[in-house]
Amino acid sequence: MPVKPKLGQNFLKDTAAIQRIAAALGDLSGRTVVEIGPGQGAITAPLAANAGHVLAVELDPAMAAHLRAEYPADRVTVVEQDVLTFDFAAAAAAAGKPLLVAGNLPYYITSPILFKLAASHAAIERAVLMVQREVADRVTAEPGSRDYGLLSVTIQMYGPAQRLFTLPPGAFSPPPDVHSTVFRWRFAPRFTELGVEEAAFTRFLRQAFAQKRKTLANNLRAAGIPSPAAAAALAQAQVPDQARAEALPIESLAALWRSLQTILLDEPAK
Ligand code: SAM
Repeated sequence: MPVKPKLGQNFLKDTAAIQRIAAALGDLSGRTVVEIGPGQGAITAPLAANAGHVLAVELDPAMAAHLRAEYPADRVTVVEQDVLTFDFAAAAAAAGKPLLVAGNLPYYITSPILFKLAASHAAIERAVLMVQREVADRVTAEPGSRDYGLLSVTIQMYGPAQRLFTLPPGAFSPPPDVHSTVFRWRFAPRFTELGVEEAAFTRFLRQAFAQKRKTLANNLRAAGIPSPAAAAALAQAQVPDQARAEALPIESLAALWRSLQTILLDEPAK
């Protein structure tokens, strides 16, 4: 089959890594697993052997035809579709249980796929995903570390992300230019627990992290939040006025958002 580099086709050939990815997804018995980008089926094989059913979502028609010929339809349903348009909620409803998700992702659309999964959180229990190492560094980063930023907080608001292992380019054919890291993401959204509203808090995070070199107060001012309101909210949430968003744990960012909501609501209209 001709390889299509534009579709991010780097096929995993390290058999130990393939088994580790399937094992990292946990107990698969009776579960429906969605595999993103199954390609030639490297990871599909151990998933199909252990899961109740696999939904293999593949954009490339040649790969999809190959998989259909390889696996009986009662074990693997090949869905020839762009994963960004795949309806996870409908698949979970049909399965009668939240989905498990696995995938050696096509790297050209890593962030859109992660945001799609986040938006589909109610339909997913956990995911084991291979991404470019630098992306995994950011997704799993802790506050104050070099890689901590908007992507870390956004992903971790939907549940803990844990780094599992890293593979060199030689584990794939053809080899990509980058190292790859597998991480596990357990979906347990924190919006209710932290008292924040999903869409508004996500918007606030984009404002808070807008410019890495600026303080949080300056980023909020640039987003149109009046300086006195931002200063009062920072004080109320016990965040130092020179703090940068990159230094703050999720709990402090949530406290700041809650204070800001109260202060802006209490402000008399001008
Ligand atoms: N899972 C296989 C493996 O590990 O060897 C292939 C992984 S390869 C990195 C990414 C796969 O995603 C390719 O098979 C590619 O055709 C497929 N793909 C690319 N864009 C896609 C999209 N938008 N939706 C679904 N699959 C896509």
